Amino acid sequence: MGKRPGLALGPDISIESVELSQERWVIRADARGTRSCPSCGWSSSSRHSWHVRRLQDFPIQGTAAIVELRLARWRCRNDTCANRTFVGRLPALVVPFARRTSRLGEIVRLFGHAAGGRVSERLLRRLAMPASRDTVLRELKKRGVRNVASVPVRIVGIDDWCWQKGDTYGSIIVDLERRSVADILPVRSVASTQDWLEQHPEIEVVSRDRCGLYAQAVRQGAPQARQIADRFHLVQNLRMAIERQMARVSRFPGRSFLPPGSDAEREAPRQASREARLGLFHYVKALHAGGMSVARIKEKTGVGRQTLIRWLDSDDLPARRHPKPTLRSPAYFREFLEQQWAAGNRRGRQLLHDLRHRGYIGSHSHLARFLAEWRHPDRATGTKTETRSMPTVFVEENMAIDPVTGWQISPQVAAALCLTPTGMLTPRQQQKVTALKQSSPSFAVMRRLAMLFRGLLRSKKAEKLEPWLRAAKDSAIPSLQQFAGTLRRDFTAVRNAIALPWSNGQAEGQINRLKTLKRAMYGRAGIELLRIRMMPFEAQPN
Ligand SMILES: [Zn+2]
Repeated sequence: MGKRPGLALGPDISIESVELSQERWVIRADARGTRSCPSCGWSSSSRHSWHVRRLQDFPIQGTAAIVELRLARWRCRNDTCANRTFVGRLPALVVPFARRTSRLGEIVRLFGHAAGGRVSERLLRRLAMPASRDTVLRELKKRGVRNVASVPVRIVGIDDWCWQKGDTYGSIIVDLERRSVADILPVRSVASTQDWLEQHPEIEVVSRDRCGLYAQAVRQGAPQARQIADRFHLVQNLRMAIERQMARVSRFPGRSFLPPGSDAEREAPRQASREARLGLFHYVKALHAGGMSVARIKEKTGVGRQTLIRWLDSDDLPARRHPKPTLRSPAYFREFLEQQWAAGNRRGRQLLHDLRHRGYIGSHSHLARFLAEWRHPDRATGTKTETRSMPTVFVEENMAIDPVTGWQISPQVAAALCLTPTGMLTPRQQQKVTALKQSSPSFAVMRRLAMLFRGLLRSKKAEKLEPWLRAAKDSAIPSLQQFAGTLRRDFTAVRNAIALPWSNGQAEGQINRLKTLKRAMYGRAGIELLRIRMMPFEAQPN
Protein backbone atom coordinates (compact mmCIF):
# COMPACT_ATOMS: atom_id res chain seq x y z
CA MET A 1 0.00 0.00 0.00
CA GLY A 2 1.11 3.54 -0.67
CA LYS A 3 1.79 6.36 1.72
CA ARG A 4 -1.33 7.65 3.44
CA PRO A 5 -1.62 11.40 3.64
CA GLY A 6 -1.59 12.64 7.22
CA LEU A 7 -0.57 9.34 8.74
CA ALA A 8 3.04 8.87 9.71
CA LEU A 9 4.84 6.88 12.38
CA GLY A 10 8.42 7.73 11.40
CA PRO A 11 11.12 6.91 8.87
CA ASP A 12 11.63 3.26 7.96
CA ILE A 13 8.20 2.32 9.22
CA SER A 14 5.75 1.34 6.53
CA ILE A 15 2.03 1.48 7.20
CA GLU A 16 0.37 -1.62 5.77
CA SER A 17 -3.28 -1.04 6.64
CA VAL A 18 -5.62 1.20 8.60
CA GLU A 19 -9.05 -0.01 9.60
CA LEU A 20 -11.78 0.71 12.10
CA SER A 21 -12.38 -2.22 14.42
CA GLN A 22 -14.48 -2.19 17.60
CA GLU A 23 -14.61 1.60 17.54
CA ARG A 24 -10.84 1.94 17.39
CA TRP A 25 -8.51 2.60 14.54
CA VAL A 26 -6.00 -0.21 14.11
CA ILE A 27 -2.90 0.74 12.17
CA ARG A 28 -0.76 -2.18 11.01
CA ALA A 29 2.84 -1.27 10.35
CA ASP A 30 6.13 -3.06 9.71
CA ALA A 31 9.60 -2.02 10.73
CA ARG A 32 12.96 -3.68 10.80
CA GLY A 33 14.38 -1.62 13.60
CA THR A 34 18.00 -1.59 14.64
CA ARG A 35 20.01 -4.64 13.70
CA SER A 36 22.73 -4.56 16.31
CA CYS A 37 22.44 -7.01 19.20
CA PRO A 38 21.69 -5.08 22.42
CA SER A 39 23.90 -7.50 24.34
CA CYS A 40 27.09 -7.75 22.27
CA GLY A 41 26.64 -5.06 19.65
CA TRP A 42 27.16 -7.40 16.62
CA SER A 43 25.13 -6.47 13.62
CA SER A 44 22.82 -9.11 12.14
CA SER A 45 21.28 -9.55 8.70
CA SER A 46 19.53 -12.81 9.42
CA ARG A 47 15.90 -12.36 10.30
CA HIS A 48 14.44 -15.00 12.60
CA SER A 49 10.75 -14.00 12.78
CA TRP A 50 8.40 -11.12 13.45
CA HIS A 51 7.56 -9.74 16.87
CA VAL A 52 4.23 -7.91 17.24
CA ARG A 53 3.69 -5.08 19.68
CA ARG A 54 0.42 -3.30 20.28
CA LEU A 55 0.90 0.38 21.12
CA GLN A 56 -1.56 3.07 21.99
CA ASP A 57 -0.99 6.17 19.86
CA PHE A 58 -2.52 9.57 19.10
CA PRO A 59 -6.23 9.36 18.22
CA ILE A 60 -7.42 9.88 14.68
CA GLN A 61 -10.37 12.25 14.23
CA GLY A 62 -11.33 11.88 17.85
CA THR A 63 -11.24 8.08 17.77
CA ALA A 64 -8.67 6.07 19.74
CA ALA A 65 -5.90 4.48 17.72
CA ILE A 66 -3.76 1.37 18.20
CA VAL A 67 -0.58 0.66 16.29
CA GLU A 68 0.07 -3.01 15.63
CA LEU A 69 3.74 -2.87 14.97
CA ARG A 70 5.57 -5.82 13.45
CA LEU A 71 9.21 -5.63 14.40
CA ALA A 72 11.86 -7.92 12.99
CA ARG A 73 13.43 -10.45 15.33
CA TRP A 74 17.07 -11.06 14.40
CA ARG A 75 19.52 -13.86 15.05
CA CYS A 76 22.73 -12.98 16.88
CA ARG A 77 25.58 -14.70 15.05
CA ASN A 78 28.08 -14.12 17.82
CA ASP A 79 28.72 -17.58 19.32
CA THR A 80 29.96 -16.17 22.59
CA CYS A 81 26.84 -13.99 23.09
CA ALA A 82 24.13 -15.13 25.48
CA ASN A 83 21.49 -13.78 23.11
CA ARG A 84 20.25 -16.19 20.47
CA THR A 85 17.80 -13.70 18.98
CA PHE A 86 16.81 -10.11 19.62
CA VAL A 87 14.06 -7.74 18.54
CA GLY A 88 15.03 -4.68 16.54
CA ARG A 89 14.48 -1.36 18.27
CA LEU A 90 12.80 1.84 17.16
CA PRO A 91 13.97 4.46 19.63
CA ALA A 92 12.21 7.29 17.77
CA LEU A 93 8.81 5.67 18.17
CA VAL A 94 8.80 3.60 21.33
CA VAL A 95 10.96 2.42 24.19
CA PRO A 96 11.20 -1.29 25.04
CA PHE A 97 8.27 -2.67 27.07
CA ALA A 98 6.24 0.54 26.78
CA ARG A 99 2.56 0.17 25.99
CA ARG A 100 2.18 3.49 24.23
CA THR A 101 4.24 5.36 21.72
CA SER A 102 6.78 7.78 23.16
CA ARG A 103 4.92 10.78 21.75
CA LEU A 104 1.71 9.72 23.47
CA GLY A 105 3.62 8.90 26.66
CA GLU A 106 4.89 12.46 26.76
CA ILE A 107 1.35 13.81 26.46
CA VAL A 108 0.21 11.56 29.31
CA ARG A 109 3.05 12.80 31.52
CA LEU A 110 2.35 16.40 30.58
CA PHE A 111 -1.27 15.94 31.63
CA GLY A 112 -0.20 14.28 34.88
CA HIS A 113 2.22 17.08 35.64
CA ALA A 114 -0.26 19.85 34.95
CA ALA A 115 -3.49 18.36 36.24
CA GLY A 116 -2.70 15.35 38.44
CA GLY A 117 -4.04 11.79 38.16
CA ARG A 118 -7.79 12.16 38.57
CA VAL A 119 -8.33 15.10 36.27
CA SER A 120 -5.97 13.67 33.66
CA GLU A 121 -7.82 10.38 33.61
CA ARG A 122 -11.07 12.21 32.79
CA LEU A 123 -9.56 14.50 30.17
CA LEU A 124 -7.52 11.80 28.48
CA ARG A 125 -10.53 9.54 28.14
CA ARG A 126 -12.51 12.37 26.60
CA LEU A 127 -9.63 13.02 24.20
CA ALA A 128 -9.58 9.33 23.16
CA MET A 129 -6.19 8.64 24.73
CA PRO A 130 -7.45 6.65 27.73
CA ALA A 131 -5.10 6.10 30.66
CA SER A 132 -6.02 5.30 34.26
CA ARG A 133 -4.95 7.72 36.94
CA ASP A 134 -2.55 5.15 38.34
CA THR A 135 -0.95 4.87 34.92
CA VAL A 136 -0.68 8.61 34.65
CA LEU A 137 1.05 8.90 38.03
CA ARG A 138 3.27 5.90 37.39
CA GLU A 139 4.38 7.35 34.06
CA LEU A 140 5.03 10.68 35.73
CA LYS A 141 7.12 9.13 38.48
CA LYS A 142 9.05 6.93 36.08
CA ARG A 143 9.93 9.49 33.46
CA GLY A 144 8.86 12.90 34.72
CA VAL A 145 11.81 13.62 37.00
CA ARG A 146 14.59 15.91 36.04
CA ASN A 147 18.06 15.13 37.24
CA VAL A 148 18.54 18.01 39.65
CA ALA A 149 22.31 17.99 39.63
CA SER A 150 22.38 18.33 35.85
CA VAL A 151 20.87 21.82 35.80
CA PRO A 152 23.24 24.60 36.78
CA VAL A 153 21.71 27.21 39.09
CA ARG A 154 23.38 30.50 39.99
CA ILE A 155 20.83 32.39 42.05
CA VAL A 156 18.51 30.57 44.45
CA GLY A 157 15.95 31.45 47.07
CA ILE A 158 15.36 29.05 49.98
CA ASP A 159 12.31 28.99 52.18
CA ASP A 160 10.36 26.51 54.22
CA TRP A 161 6.88 25.12 53.71
CA CYS A 162 4.56 23.30 56.02
CA TRP A 163 4.24 19.62 55.26
CA GLN A 164 1.68 18.46 57.82
CA LYS A 165 -0.41 20.97 59.75
CA GLY A 166 2.47 22.68 61.49
CA ASP A 167 4.18 19.45 62.51
CA THR A 168 6.87 19.05 59.93
CA TYR A 169 8.43 21.42 57.50
CA GLY A 170 10.10 20.90 54.16
CA SER A 171 12.36 23.19 52.17
CA ILE A 172 11.76 24.69 48.78
CA ILE A 173 14.60 25.88 46.59
CA VAL A 174 13.68 28.26 43.81
CA ASP A 175 15.82 29.13 40.81
CA LEU A 176 15.34 32.89 40.90
CA GLU A 177 16.80 33.44 37.43
CA ARG A 178 14.62 30.90 35.62
CA ARG A 179 11.69 31.61 37.91
CA SER A 180 11.13 27.90 38.50
CA VAL A 181 11.45 25.39 41.32
CA ALA A 182 14.95 23.96 41.54
CA ASP A 183 14.07 21.33 44.12
CA ILE A 184 11.79 20.33 46.96
CA LEU A 185 13.33 18.81 50.08
CA PRO A 186 11.12 16.79 52.43
CA VAL A 187 12.75 18.21 55.57
CA ARG A 188 13.94 21.53 56.89
CA SER A 189 17.37 20.94 58.31
CA VAL A 190 20.87 22.31 58.06
CA ALA A 191 22.18 18.94 56.88
CA SER A 192 19.72 18.38 54.02
CA THR A 193 20.07 21.94 52.74
CA GLN A 194 23.82 21.79 53.04
CA ASP A 195 23.90 18.52 51.08
CA TRP A 196 21.86 20.03 48.30
CA LEU A 197 24.01 23.16 48.12
CA GLU A 198 27.17 21.07 47.99
CA GLN A 199 25.89 19.40 44.82
CA HIS A 200 25.68 22.86 43.26
CA PRO A 201 29.08 24.52 43.57
CA GLU A 202 28.00 26.92 40.81
CA ILE A 203 25.66 28.80 43.16
CA GLU A 204 26.60 32.46 43.54
CA VAL A 205 23.74 34.01 45.49
CA VAL A 206 21.35 32.59 48.10
CA SER A 207 18.33 34.52 49.31
CA ARG A 208 16.92 33.12 52.56
CA ASP A 209 14.67 33.95 55.49
CA ARG A 210 15.92 35.31 58.78
CA CYS A 211 15.92 32.23 60.95
CA GLY A 212 19.49 31.07 61.33
CA LEU A 213 19.00 27.57 59.94
CA TYR A 214 19.38 28.32 56.25
CA ALA A 215 22.08 30.91 56.91
CA GLN A 216 24.14 28.23 58.61
CA ALA A 217 23.45 25.71 55.83
CA VAL A 218 24.68 28.25 53.26
CA ARG A 219 27.81 29.07 55.26
CA GLN A 220 28.66 25.37 55.39
CA GLY A 221 27.34 24.11 52.05
CA ALA A 222 27.98 27.09 49.77
CA PRO A 223 30.62 29.27 51.43
CA GLN A 224 31.32 30.86 48.05
CA ALA A 225 27.78 32.26 47.80
CA ARG A 226 26.65 35.72 48.83
CA GLN A 227 23.74 35.61 51.25
CA ILE A 228 20.71 37.84 51.04
CA ALA A 229 18.32 38.38 53.94
CA ASP A 230 14.95 38.27 52.26
CA ARG A 231 13.22 41.66 52.07
CA PHE A 232 9.77 40.24 52.76
CA HIS A 233 11.01 38.66 55.98
CA LEU A 234 12.83 41.85 56.96
CA VAL A 235 9.61 43.83 56.73
CA GLN A 236 7.80 41.06 58.66
CA ASN A 237 10.39 41.27 61.43
CA LEU A 238 9.99 45.03 61.60
CA ARG A 239 6.22 44.67 61.74
CA MET A 240 6.55 42.28 64.68
CA ALA A 241 8.89 44.68 66.48
CA ILE A 242 6.34 47.48 66.08
CA GLU A 243 3.57 45.18 67.26
CA ARG A 244 5.54 44.31 70.40
CA GLN A 245 6.03 47.97 71.22
CA MET A 246 2.36 48.79 70.62
CA ALA A 247 1.31 45.82 72.77
CA ARG A 248 3.41 47.27 75.57
CA VAL A 249 1.80 50.67 75.14
CA SER A 250 -1.71 49.20 75.19
CA ARG A 251 -0.98 47.04 78.22
CA PHE A 252 0.72 49.83 80.13
CA PRO A 253 -0.85 53.11 79.10
CA GLY A 254 1.13 56.07 80.34
CA ARG A 255 4.25 53.97 79.83
CA SER A 256 7.30 55.98 79.02
CA PHE A 257 10.53 55.51 77.23
CA LEU A 258 13.97 56.84 77.85
CA PRO A 259 16.45 58.73 75.75
CA PRO A 260 19.32 56.59 74.47
CA GLY A 261 22.72 56.25 76.02
CA SER A 262 21.39 56.47 79.52
CA ASP A 263 23.04 53.99 81.85
CA ALA A 264 19.62 53.52 83.33
CA GLU A 265 18.36 52.26 80.03
CA ARG A 266 18.36 48.69 81.24
CA GLU A 267 16.60 49.24 84.52
CA ALA A 268 14.23 51.79 83.04
CA PRO A 269 11.84 49.43 81.27
CA ARG A 270 11.24 47.56 84.53
CA GLN A 271 10.79 50.77 86.46
CA ALA A 272 8.51 52.15 83.77
CA SER A 273 6.61 48.91 83.66
CA ARG A 274 6.00 49.09 87.41
CA GLU A 275 4.79 52.65 87.10
CA ALA A 276 2.65 51.89 84.10
CA ARG A 277 1.11 48.95 85.88
CA LEU A 278 0.25 51.13 88.81
CA GLY A 279 -1.32 53.67 86.43
CA LEU A 280 -3.37 50.93 84.84
CA PHE A 281 -4.44 49.69 88.29
CA HIS A 282 -5.83 53.12 89.20
CA TYR A 283 -7.45 53.47 85.80
CA VAL A 284 -9.23 50.14 86.24
CA LYS A 285 -10.38 51.19 89.71
CA ALA A 286 -11.72 54.46 88.32
CA LEU A 287 -13.61 52.73 85.54
CA HIS A 288 -15.14 50.31 88.00
CA ALA A 289 -16.07 53.11 90.36
CA GLY A 290 -17.81 54.75 87.40
CA GLY A 291 -20.03 51.69 87.15
CA MET A 292 -18.38 49.90 84.23
CA SER A 293 -18.73 46.11 84.12
CA VAL A 294 -15.70 43.83 84.40
CA ALA A 295 -16.30 42.52 80.89
CA ARG A 296 -16.31 46.02 79.48
CA ILE A 297 -13.17 46.99 81.42
CA LYS A 298 -11.48 43.90 80.11
CA GLU A 299 -12.42 44.89 76.57
CA LYS A 300 -11.25 48.45 77.06
CA THR A 301 -7.93 47.79 78.80
CA GLY A 302 -6.96 44.35 77.61
CA VAL A 303 -6.30 43.22 81.21
CA GLY A 304 -7.30 39.59 81.82
CA ARG A 305 -10.43 38.77 83.79
CA GLN A 306 -8.61 36.97 86.63
CA THR A 307 -6.26 39.91 87.15
CA LEU A 308 -9.13 42.40 87.08
CA ILE A 309 -11.01 40.50 89.79
CA ARG A 310 -7.87 40.34 91.91
CA TRP A 311 -7.29 44.07 91.47
CA LEU A 312 -10.86 45.06 92.25
CA ASP A 313 -10.64 43.03 95.47
CA SER A 314 -7.62 44.85 96.84
CA ASP A 315 -6.85 48.43 97.75
CA ASP A 316 -3.22 48.37 96.69
CA LEU A 317 -1.68 46.96 93.55
CA PRO A 318 -0.93 43.30 94.36
CA ALA A 319 2.63 42.19 93.75
CA ARG A 320 3.23 40.50 90.45
CA ARG A 321 3.12 36.75 90.55
CA HIS A 322 6.58 35.74 89.51
CA PRO A 323 6.65 32.63 87.40
CA LYS A 324 8.94 29.83 88.48
CA PRO A 325 12.40 30.24 86.97
CA THR A 326 12.99 28.10 83.93
CA LEU A 327 16.13 26.73 82.29
CA ARG A 328 16.33 30.10 80.57
CA SER A 329 16.96 31.86 83.86
CA PRO A 330 20.15 31.75 85.98
CA ALA A 331 17.89 31.80 89.07
CA TYR A 332 16.99 28.21 88.27
CA PHE A 333 20.60 27.30 89.09
CA ARG A 334 20.88 29.58 92.13
CA GLU A 335 21.99 26.85 94.49
CA PHE A 336 24.78 25.66 92.22
CA LEU A 337 25.89 29.22 91.53
CA GLU A 338 26.02 30.01 95.25
CA GLN A 339 28.25 26.99 95.88
CA GLN A 340 30.59 27.98 93.06
CA TRP A 341 30.63 31.58 94.22
CA ALA A 342 31.54 30.53 97.75
CA ALA A 343 34.30 28.31 96.37
CA GLY A 344 35.81 31.30 94.57
CA ASN A 345 34.74 30.22 91.12
CA ARG A 346 33.51 33.61 89.93
CA ARG A 347 34.48 33.94 86.27
CA GLY A 348 31.37 34.54 84.19
CA ARG A 349 32.46 32.59 81.10
CA GLN A 350 33.50 29.60 83.18
CA LEU A 351 30.22 29.63 85.10
CA LEU A 352 28.31 29.92 81.83
CA HIS A 353 30.15 26.86 80.57
CA ASP A 354 29.24 24.92 83.73
CA LEU A 355 25.61 26.01 83.56
CA ARG A 356 25.36 24.98 79.92
CA HIS A 357 26.36 21.48 80.96
CA ARG A 358 23.54 21.57 83.50
CA GLY A 359 21.01 22.53 80.87
CA TYR A 360 21.02 26.33 81.02
CA ILE A 361 19.65 27.77 77.77
CA GLY A 362 19.69 31.46 78.66
CA SER A 363 22.15 34.07 77.46
CA HIS A 364 25.52 35.08 78.81
CA SER A 365 24.31 38.63 79.43
CA HIS A 366 21.44 37.35 81.52
CA LEU A 367 23.87 35.42 83.69
CA ALA A 368 26.17 38.45 83.90
CA ARG A 369 23.30 40.62 85.13
CA PHE A 370 22.39 37.98 87.68
CA LEU A 371 25.96 37.81 88.98
CA ALA A 372 26.37 41.60 88.96
CA GLU A 373 24.21 41.80 92.08
CA TRP A 374 26.67 39.51 93.87
CA ARG A 375 29.70 41.26 92.48
CA HIS A 376 28.55 44.74 93.51
CA PRO A 377 26.23 44.31 96.46
CA ASP A 378 26.66 48.04 97.17
CA ARG A 379 25.02 48.87 93.86
CA ALA A 380 21.81 47.14 94.76
CA THR A 381 18.89 47.72 92.47
CA GLY A 382 16.98 49.84 94.97
CA THR A 383 19.53 52.67 95.04
CA LYS A 384 20.03 52.67 91.30
CA THR A 385 17.38 55.25 90.55
CA GLU A 386 19.13 57.91 92.59
CA THR A 387 22.56 57.41 91.06
CA ARG A 388 21.51 57.76 87.43
CA SER A 389 23.82 60.12 85.61
CA MET A 390 21.29 61.18 83.02
CA PRO A 391 17.94 62.76 83.65
CA THR A 392 15.03 60.49 82.88
CA VAL A 393 12.76 61.87 80.21
CA PHE A 394 9.34 60.35 80.33
CA VAL A 395 7.01 60.68 77.43
CA GLU A 396 3.30 60.11 77.73
CA GLU A 397 2.12 57.05 75.86
CA ASN A 398 -1.59 56.38 75.69
CA MET A 399 -3.76 53.72 74.21
CA ALA A 400 -4.98 54.81 70.80
CA ILE A 401 -8.73 54.91 70.48
CA ASP A 402 -10.40 54.53 67.11
CA PRO A 403 -12.27 57.85 66.74
CA VAL A 404 -15.16 56.16 64.92
CA THR A 405 -15.84 53.10 67.08
CA GLY A 406 -14.38 54.35 70.36
CA TRP A 407 -12.54 51.07 70.73
CA GLN A 408 -8.88 50.60 71.32
CA ILE A 409 -6.79 50.05 68.18
CA SER A 410 -5.11 46.67 68.51
CA PRO A 411 -1.32 46.35 68.33
CA GLN A 412 -1.68 44.17 65.21
CA VAL A 413 -3.68 46.81 63.38
CA ALA A 414 -1.36 49.55 64.61
CA ALA A 415 1.69 47.66 63.31
CA ALA A 416 0.09 47.07 59.91
CA LEU A 417 -0.89 50.75 59.65
CA CYS A 418 2.56 51.81 60.76
CA LEU A 419 4.04 50.12 57.68
CA THR A 420 1.49 51.37 55.15
CA PRO A 421 2.60 54.42 53.12
CA THR A 422 0.32 57.43 53.41
CA GLY A 423 -0.67 57.23 49.76
CA MET A 424 -2.05 53.74 50.27
CA LEU A 425 -4.16 54.50 53.35
CA THR A 426 -7.93 54.67 53.04
CA PRO A 427 -9.57 57.70 54.72
CA ARG A 428 -10.62 55.44 57.64
CA GLN A 429 -7.08 54.15 58.05
CA GLN A 430 -5.77 57.69 57.85
CA GLN A 431 -7.99 58.61 60.81
CA LYS A 432 -6.58 55.74 62.83
CA VAL A 433 -3.00 56.67 61.97
CA THR A 434 -3.66 60.22 63.14
CA ALA A 435 -5.16 58.92 66.39
CA LEU A 436 -2.18 56.63 66.91
CA LYS A 437 0.32 59.42 66.28
CA GLN A 438 -1.44 61.75 68.71
CA SER A 439 -1.75 59.25 71.53
CA SER A 440 1.60 57.51 71.18
CA PRO A 441 4.81 59.40 70.43
CA SER A 442 6.62 56.10 69.90
CA PHE A 443 4.16 55.23 67.13
CA ALA A 444 5.04 58.46 65.35
CA VAL A 445 8.75 57.71 65.67
CA MET A 446 8.30 54.13 64.49
CA ARG A 447 6.21 55.17 61.51
CA ARG A 448 8.84 57.62 60.36
CA LEU A 449 11.55 54.96 60.70
CA ALA A 450 9.37 52.30 59.07
CA MET A 451 8.81 54.49 56.01
CA LEU A 452 12.54 55.16 55.84
CA PHE A 453 13.18 51.43 56.08
CA ARG A 454 10.81 50.62 53.23
CA GLY A 455 12.41 53.32 51.13
CA LEU A 456 15.82 51.97 52.07
CA LEU A 457 14.93 48.48 50.84
CA ARG A 458 13.91 49.88 47.47
CA SER A 459 16.69 52.44 47.21
CA LYS A 460 19.51 50.04 46.19
CA LYS A 461 21.73 52.30 48.32
CA ALA A 462 23.31 49.98 50.84
CA GLU A 463 25.31 52.80 52.42
CA LYS A 464 22.06 54.12 53.88
CA LEU A 465 21.69 51.07 56.10
CA GLU A 466 24.22 52.20 58.70
CA PRO A 467 22.54 55.60 59.31
CA TRP A 468 19.17 53.88 59.61
CA LEU A 469 20.47 51.42 62.19
CA ARG A 470 21.90 54.33 64.19
CA ALA A 471 18.59 56.17 64.02
CA ALA A 472 16.77 53.06 65.23
CA LYS A 473 19.23 52.71 68.10
CA ASP A 474 18.72 56.38 68.99
CA SER A 475 14.95 56.04 68.92
CA ALA A 476 14.99 54.73 72.51
CA ILE A 477 12.20 52.34 71.62
CA PRO A 478 13.33 48.99 73.03
CA SER A 479 11.78 46.65 70.46
CA LEU A 480 13.06 48.80 67.60
CA GLN A 481 16.53 48.80 69.11
CA GLN A 482 16.28 45.05 69.40
CA PHE A 483 15.28 44.81 65.74
CA ALA A 484 18.24 46.98 64.76
CA GLY A 485 20.46 44.67 66.83
CA THR A 486 19.32 41.58 64.91
CA LEU A 487 19.96 43.38 61.62
CA ARG A 488 23.46 44.26 62.74
CA ARG A 489 24.21 40.63 63.53
CA ASP A 490 23.15 39.76 59.96
CA PHE A 491 24.67 42.91 58.51
CA THR A 492 26.19 41.62 55.26
CA ALA A 493 23.06 39.73 54.25
CA VAL A 494 20.87 42.75 55.01
CA ARG A 495 23.19 45.00 52.99
CA ASN A 496 22.92 42.54 50.11
CA ALA A 497 19.14 42.67 50.38
CA ILE A 498 19.37 46.37 49.58
CA ALA A 499 22.14 46.23 47.00
CA LEU A 500 21.11 43.12 45.03
CA PRO A 501 17.92 42.80 43.00
CA TRP A 502 16.98 39.29 44.20
CA SER A 503 14.37 38.39 46.76
CA ASN A 504 12.24 35.44 47.83
CA GLY A 505 9.04 36.93 46.46
CA GLN A 506 8.90 34.13 43.92
CA ALA A 507 9.47 31.48 46.55
CA GLU A 508 6.36 32.76 48.34
CA GLY A 509 4.43 32.39 45.10
CA GLN A 510 5.74 28.87 44.62
CA ILE A 511 4.80 27.97 48.19
CA ASN A 512 1.25 29.07 47.47
CA ARG A 513 1.24 26.87 44.38
CA LEU A 514 2.58 24.01 46.49
CA LYS A 515 -0.21 24.42 49.04
CA THR A 516 -2.82 24.36 46.30
CA LEU A 517 -1.26 21.26 44.75
CA LYS A 518 -1.04 19.50 48.09
CA ARG A 519 -4.72 20.13 48.71
CA ALA A 520 -5.73 19.05 45.21
CA MET A 521 -3.76 15.82 45.47
CA TYR A 522 -5.72 14.58 48.51
CA GLY A 523 -4.03 11.60 50.09
CA ARG A 524 -1.77 10.97 47.14
CA ALA A 525 0.50 13.89 47.88
CA GLY A 526 3.61 11.83 48.52
CA ILE A 527 6.73 13.94 48.54
CA GLU A 528 7.94 12.27 45.34
CA LEU A 529 4.89 13.22 43.34
CA LEU A 530 4.64 16.65 44.89
CA ARG A 531 8.24 17.30 43.99
CA ILE A 532 7.77 16.20 40.38
CA ARG A 533 4.71 18.32 39.91
CA MET A 534 6.33 21.38 41.48
CA MET A 535 9.39 21.18 39.25
CA PRO A 536 9.25 22.28 35.63
CA PHE A 537 8.08 19.63 33.18
CA GLU A 538 10.75 18.28 30.90
CA ALA A 539 10.10 16.32 27.77
CA GLN A 540 11.87 12.99 28.16
CA PRO A 541 11.25 10.58 25.32
CA ASN A 542 13.10 7.72 26.98
ZN1 LIG B 1 24.72 -10.75 20.64
